Amino acid sequence: MYAVNLARYHFCPKMKEDGLYAGPRLVILTSQEGHYSISKAAALLGFGTKNVYVVSSDKRGKMIPSALEEKIQLAKSEGAVPIMVNATAGTTVFGAFDPIEEIANICEKHNLWLHVDACWGGATLVSMKHKHLLKGIQRANSVAWNPHKMLMVSLQCSAFLVRDKTSLLERCHSARASYLFQKDKFYDISYDTGDKSFQCSRKPDAFKFWLMWKALGTRELEQRVDGVLAMARHLEQEIKKREGFHLLMEPEYTNVCFWYIPPSLRNLRDGPELWKKLHTVAPVVKERMMETGSLMLGYQTHEDKPNFFRMVVISPQVSRKDLDFVLDEIHNLGKDL
Ligand SMILES: *Cc1c(COP(=O)(O)O)cnc(C)c1O
Repeated sequence: MYAVNLARYHFCPKMKEDGLYAGPRLVILTSQEGHYSISKAAALLGFGTKNVYVVSSDKRGKMIPSALEEKIQLAKSEGAVPIMVNATAGTTVFGAFDPIEEIANICEKHNLWLHVDACWGGATLVSMKHKHLLKGIQRANSVAWNPHKMLMVSLQCSAFLVRDKTSLLERCHSARASYLFQKDKFYDISYDTGDKSFQCSRKPDAFKFWLMWKALGTRELEQRVDGVLAMARHLEQEIKKREGFHLLMEPEYTNVCFWYIPPSLRNLRDGPELWKKLHTVAPVVKERMMETGSLMLGYQTHEDKPNFFRMVVISPQVSRKDLDFVLDEIHNLGKDL
């Protein structure tokens, strides 16, 4: 919502005071795998959810740059004005990373605000080994990043980073309440964040992250992220090894999506019959997990795919043993289905 509001302010600063925009329809573009926060922002800020143009992603969940170009052209041909592209670094379901560099080229060409939703994937910024996933992120106009996800800062801690150095954020959001935001203080007031946000009273969430970073050091954060990714690769290898387990795709991040196929279905040929039966497996296994109290693991469908499990490794405390247990337990709970 911050990014969408900022992109609009950047496009048309007058709206802050004049209210309703009288010009052509404004459009935001995001991929089909993008987070719902973009359409919520569009609804809340008066864009309308119909003006969020959904760009196709490839099989791995990454935005297709040529499809983005087409949607921009489509919006323009309708007389609408695209103003912002949201690229996702670490999608919610597959953990896919949109090709930021190529998207940035398109944004530059059309003069669009580039926001990178790195809420989930931003953690890889601290890893020399994995930060290539975010290649091009330095070209973004704004970035959202949640240290409360893989970096494990206690909830909540969400960072919103802006490249602009001309106090755009403050101009966009300030209400200049004189009882709070005095200009004649004895220090550099550009560090005061109070009038840059929508809200008034808020906890200083950044402090938790600062303290944790100080206490652990960048190296330790890096080791944690590398460790979590190594665990996800272990799970992936185990799934490949074990009979009855089947990956949807090679994961790019720590979202490991897979099916469990009970012995009774293993001889069925791949097709609608198997898919229909397979669709019913995960909900029953999940129900049994909850009744037994041994495990909690979500399942879901995606497009025409039958229900699958989505194991997302986040915590550095998760071990190989834990992940083996996940697969053992799914088999135990589902082998009679
Ligand atoms: C978690 C997540 C969000 C929402 O962030 P919150 O600050 O936790 O509400 C947005 N986008 C992506 C890709 C996410 O993974």
